[in-house]
Amino acid sequence: MSVLMKGADVANAMKEELIEKTNHLKEQGVTPCLAIVRVGSRPDDLSYERGAKKRMEMIGIECRIVELAEDIEQKEFERAFEKVNDDPSVHGILLFRPLPGHLDEEAIKAMIRPEKDCMSPVNIAKVFAGDETGYAPCTAEAVVEMLDHYGIDVTGKRVTVVGRSMVVGKPLAMMLLKKHATITVCHTRTVELAKTCREAEILVAAAGKAKMITSDMVGDDAVVADVGINVDESGNLCGDVDFDAVEPKTSYISPVPRGVGSITTSVLAKHVVCAAMRQAENE
Ligand code: NDP
Repeated sequence: MSVLMKGADVANAMKEELIEKTNHLKEQGVTPCLAIVRVGSRPDDLSYERGAKKRMEMIGIECRIVELAEDIEQKEFERAFEKVNDDPSVHGILLFRPLPGHLDEEAIKAMIRPEKDCMSPVNIAKVFAGDETGYAPCTAEAVVEMLDHYGIDVTGKRVTVVGRSMVVGKPLAMMLLKKHATITVCHTRTVELAKTCREAEILVAAAGKAKMITSDMVGDDAVVADVGINVDESGNLCGDVDFDAVEPKTSYISPVPRGVGSITTSVLAKHVVCAAMRQAENE
């Protein structure tokens, strides 16, 4: 019988530890603070913002929302962003992307202080170099947290990651490599995708294709983590894995929704607390 890897269980376990660390910081006079910078009001951003704010408040992290007009000009945006970036009481920044087309996203990325945001190129480089002081993209780290929580040791295991984006597939592959897994990364040009997936002891699906991982692509007793968030033909949320068909073959599997996606705001909170702790140590 397969174990269902529930995001909420992972997030709850992380919460206890984060509350403890946050309380300790507060005793030292430091309140961890996240600034959420949003341009315009896309429904997806607003929904994630609500979840993130709730999670931060649950842990005792201050959450400031910086809301900017959809048509804000580059210079004005940079000024507003710099204010948050340079504010020593802000330990982490969540900037919703993609930014509206008229704003230069690369310029902004380069501006972000690496100690405040995981999308800074400095952090990506650190993740790829195996330097643990770098902040990894939250979704990639959420998969690692999930596997850790369920006691799944990746050492020496054959792990296949389907997807090679810079937000999920590639950084996740590097993080698991650092933990001594043997990694194969698949993408749209992969030949024999089904076979490569089937041979994996741990399979991570992060392709963004509804139910593309079918039961013939999964080996017996495999661990399957599903990162995909898609809408199926009936308009329901689903992952990249055909859950009902695949689940009986697995030893562990994560659902969509209520799987990996439920852990990302906890990882964000972990980054903010960690940034605040580093700042407190340097004072
Ligand atoms: P991207 O579209 O940036 O990347 C998708 C990757 O999957 C690409 O590398 C692509 O290959 C590969 N791919 C797509 N189709 C196939 C296929 N049929 N066979 C093999 N490989 C394929 O997506 P993201 O990485 O941003 O996101 C992936 C999924 O994760 C999405 O469903 C997204 O919604 C979800 N997601 C979930 C988050 C969460 O909080 N749970 C957060 C971020 C993303 P190629 O490079 O060749 O094009």
